[in-house]
Amino acid sequence: MTEHIYLDYNATSPLHPAAQEAMQNAFDAPSNPSSVHHHGRVARAKLEKAREQCATLLGGRARDITFTSGGTEANNMVLAGYQHVICSEIEHDAVLAACPDADQIKTLPNGVIDLSDLAAKLARITPEQSADTVVSVMAANNETGAIQPIAQIAMLCREAGVKFHSDMVQILGKKPLNVIELGVDYASFSAHKIGGPSGVGAVYSAGALRPTPLIKGGGQEQGSRSGTENFLGIIGFGEAAKAAVDGALHFEQLEIWRNEAEQRLVSACPEIEVIAQDADRLGNTSALYLPHITSEMAVMSLDLKGFSISAGAACSSGKMKPSHVISAMGMADKAGHVIRISSGWKTQANDMLRLAEQIIEMYKHSQAG
Ligand code: PLP
Repeated sequence: MTEHIYLDYNATSPLHPAAQEAMQNAFDAPSNPSSVHHHGRVARAKLEKAREQCATLLGGRARDITFTSGGTEANNMVLAGYQHVICSEIEHDAVLAACPDADQIKTLPNGVIDLSDLAAKLARITPEQSADTVVSVMAANNETGAIQPIAQIAMLCREAGVKFHSDMVQILGKKPLNVIELGVDYASFSAHKIGGPSGVGAVYSAGALRPTPLIKGGGQEQGSRSGTENFLGIIGFGEAAKAAVDGALHFEQLEIWRNEAEQRLVSACPEIEVIAQDADRLGNTSALYLPHITSEMAVMSLDLKGFSISAGAACSSGKMKPSHVISAMGMADKAGHVIRISSGWKTQANDMLRLAEQIIEMYKHSQAG
């Protein structure tokens, strides 16, 4: 039987062998980085090396990185520090559920946030409110891959005297990144999207800023995140970050393969629409509208053909709900017919084209039926 091809990297990535090896090598030693004896010091050195490796990938200072249990906790820690939140409509639930009363920025039809709407919202903030306000906009959307104008948002926020947080879970490892140059105050990251293990992530907070501790106790991570560190997970995160830096060229190749597959699809079936096509997109992501076929049906039949892809965002309950992202782009009527394909470090030449041929076959079959 041929191998089932995994093309759902925006949901999670297979563990990178470098991360696996580093974690396996660290299994045997007792590793509490807070202990002052030999074993503790060795663990501390490994933990700080991982922090440096992550800092290199995200383009920030190691001391500004706090390890967390994942992207969800990182987002929650930042947002917990502010009374007033302005966020985009297309944020992940890890932001939306953390600030249910947020003022939401409108989305343009191409999946990019409406900067004029953000500017109007910022203009309404009073000087008293500004110190307690944060804007939260993701760097790239998990469903469409649409990249958001982070540097421009950072500038608008600076001018308005408010802080800016960006959920950078999806862009990490897929595009060169420099949080300092972008001018963000806070950013969130997750290991399992880049070939690290799940259950570990990080929050970046610039300079003197600190994320709000949600878990109180022994004061690890400079008092921001108590509890003995997830040592093995952090080691794996660090090695996955290094592998992402070393594998940057592969991500450029993914964009070429994605574009070839999209061109093949649209030329064979012109009714198929590439979502957010007019936006700058992550090179690994393709969201496709397939008229006549529901997302669930498409995911199931492609699964039978040997491809793991997704219907928009993965949902913890396993049930599909219409995508709030596609709806925010003014395409609520299409939301039930969208599939998401996302490639990554293990994707090989032809994986995308082979999937495209299966989609064409499925699509033509559905029209004939
Ligand atoms: N933010 C975005 C944009 C995501 O895609 C995800 C994961 O799906 C998260 C946050 C949550 O990250 P984690 O699974 O590490 O909690």
